[in-house]
Amino acid sequence: MVNQLNFTKFNGCSRQAYLTARDKNYKSLKDKYNMSSRLHDIQSDMLRSFPDGVWVYGDTKRAALDTRAIVEKGEEVIYNATFIHNGASARCDVIMLENGAYDIYAVRPTSRYTRWIDEVLFSKIIMEKSGVKVGNCFVCAIDREGMKGKTLSVINVNNYRRQKKLEERLERILKNIALEAIPEPSLTRLCGSCPYLESCFAKSEDSIFTLKSIPFTKKMSLFQKGVKTVDSFAKMPDCDDKTKREILVRSTDEDVYSKEEIASFLKTLHYPLGFLDFETMEVFRPKEKFLAPMDTVITQFSYHLIEKEGAEPVHFEFIGDGEHYCEKEVIKELCKCIGKDHCVLMYSDYEKICIERLMKRHPKSASKLEVIVNNLVDLEKPFAKKVLVNRAMEGKSSLKKVLPALYPDCPELDYSRMAIKNGQQAESVYARLGRMSGKEKENAMRDLREYCALDTLAMIKLWEKLEFY
Ligand code: SF4
Repeated sequence: MVNQLNFTKFNGCSRQAYLTARDKNYKSLKDKYNMSSRLHDIQSDMLRSFPDGVWVYGDTKRAALDTRAIVEKGEEVIYNATFIHNGASARCDVIMLENGAYDIYAVRPTSRYTRWIDEVLFSKIIMEKSGVKVGNCFVCAIDREGMKGKTLSVINVNNYRRQKKLEERLERILKNIALEAIPEPSLTRLCGSCPYLESCFAKSEDSIFTLKSIPFTKKMSLFQKGVKTVDSFAKMPDCDDKTKREILVRSTDEDVYSKEEIASFLKTLHYPLGFLDFETMEVFRPKEKFLAPMDTVITQFSYHLIEKEGAEPVHFEFIGDGEHYCEKEVIKELCKCIGKDHCVLMYSDYEKICIERLMKRHPKSASKLEVIVNNLVDLEKPFAKKVLVNRAMEGKSSLKKVLPALYPDCPELDYSRMAIKNGQQAESVYARLGRMSGKEKENAMRDLREYCALDTLAMIKLWEKLEFY
């Protein structure tokens, strides 16, 4: 069935349309909006702004039948109204009867409403095709708390020309879905971001598309020239050292590395050497004027510092209380523990992005923070460049992949034994912190501290591994 989600994801490929419509594992709308923890807030907003409505429940077919009956009764407000037409379905958060036609309201947890326009217009198309008269289409963007007493910004997104284009696209998709045989794959640039690339072009383990260290456009051009396997590419002069290491690692259980490239990375570092990691959270409805809904804020950090060669690492940390915006304290604490002369390792450039955001939000502290930004070095880079790689990394360079691959039997570096195992879990625990008290809050804060500290400890271990080679 074509719905709002897969409709906006279609890239024009008839095979993709055919496969998506039959894909049982396709993410649900709920997953897409990551709404599970926020669903309650969204529903409260909907109910406050559109009171006295009737809920529709159940799977798509059941919900569509019930919606039809409720619409026929002439109910004024319907939540989760569902419509099906000819292999396509649409669910609307709220529809409201106004002058003999239903207006559609999509409630979304963001003030950036433009990305939802196609989805709302898609709902309008399906409703009209199912014989329901539609008036206007609105995106209700959940706004800042207490802003002029409103909780939702309502934006009319009716656009007749856009709707016509979407209608044509829907017709094309439905035609492709109805085909009896699966359309043949045709390689284009769009395949690079298609979830079906593997089933179309990378069926064998030796496929050129399984290589991680070259961009998709290059793989595509090699494939079109007949270089379809990793083996054949390995013999070509334009197979660089990084790719050669990626290929070599497939046939050995040993670490594969480049001494020169490791040395050249290590040369960029100096003592005092720091290791920095942030945890962050999206704020659903911020109170601060300089924040927009769903903006990301820093909630805690861990910083390990090695003053000089051979010295033991010293640990610094900060964590907010989960009740207030705490980035001002983050700045104060960061500037206290990170000296102007520190060389600061981060993993990926996320910490840099976070500090640059802090500089914009708190311009008075920008010059102090700029010093830290200028001293940041990305520890993921050597692993992304495959200067040290092994098979267990599976072609990836994330900390959670590289660490166990280089320290396979090291319980103190094992995230799976931790109460908090990953950043997402840390975010969701922190989001609940404000509603906790006593022992429960104490334990949650301890778990968060331990998790964040392990991230910087893990970075020390990875740096030590590079030093070893
Ligand atoms: S990989 Fe390419 S050909 Fe295959 S379904 Fe996706 S877009 Fe279509």
